[in-house]
Amino acid sequence: MDDIFEKIARHEVPADIIYEDEDTVAFLDIMPDVPGHTLVIPKKKSRNIFDIDMESWSKVAETARKIAPVVRDSVGATGMQIRMNNEPSAGQVVFHLHLHLIPFHEGQEKNFPEKLPSTKEERTQLAEKLRALLQH
Ligand code: 5GP
Repeated sequence: MDDIFEKIARHEVPADIIYEDEDTVAFLDIMPDVPGHTLVIPKKKSRNIFDIDMESWSKVAETARKIAPVVRDSVGATGMQIRMNNEPSAGQVVFHLHLHLIPFHEGQEKNFPEKLPSTKEERTQLAEKLRALLQH
């Protein structure tokens, strides 16, 4: 059965996609821990770290490396946590592999980030900015 991220990768459901190439897609998390919270997924379906093939994993890592500084700078952050939940016991809710890119500011709570829900409008604006920055 298709998962929601597969549908996002195929553009069948709306998402604030900020970067896309042949193998990966990056888009803003719908319920961000902080503004700029971005998810990177492989287009080829895998559940998590335990079944992804090495090539897809490398592509996901490449995309994360490419967009991380841009995501950080777009919200004026100084750091970033990259997280990945694998299986329900570790907090995975969507079963299509994804990396969380979470920008951090000085003094920001590290282990339990404050949820600062963004509006649809804020996400749309930020996604536009990020797409423009990533085209350069
Ligand atoms: P997990 O706990 O599986 O690592 O995280 C799943 C993440 O996906 C959560 O942060 C959640 O907010 C995000 N998410 C779930 N459904 C959607 C969706 O339909 N669109 C987007 N953009 N993010 C989603």
